[in-house]
Amino acid sequence: MAGNLEATMDTRAARYFKWLLFWQQQGRCCYCGEHVVLTYRPYEAVRPYAATLEHLQRRADGGTGHSSNLAMACKRCNNTRGERDWLSYASWRRKEF
Ligand SMILES: [Zn+2]
Repeated sequence: MAGNLEATMDTRAARYFKWLLFWQQQGRCCYCGEHVVLTYRPYEAVRPYAATLEHLQRRADGGTGHSSNLAMACKRCNNTRGERDWLSYASWRRKEF
């Protein structure tokens, strides 16, 4: 799945980055600016407002797992982004709200 790190990244590293980005972004999604919920409970992690780790440049486009390529997005944005590049997706999201 595009942008979803959990499957490919060590869980402890993924948790650390999520926590770090949560504070850096003041608990807001990097795309829509909505507040997200930082959770590790499976039943919460599937909610649209759950925090997810996002590769700004997709792995398919040569993006790495380095912290400079990571951002926190809500699950809804992460799922909706699909194949779009992150800059055009971000501006599209912001016009919508
Ligand atoms: Zn969002």
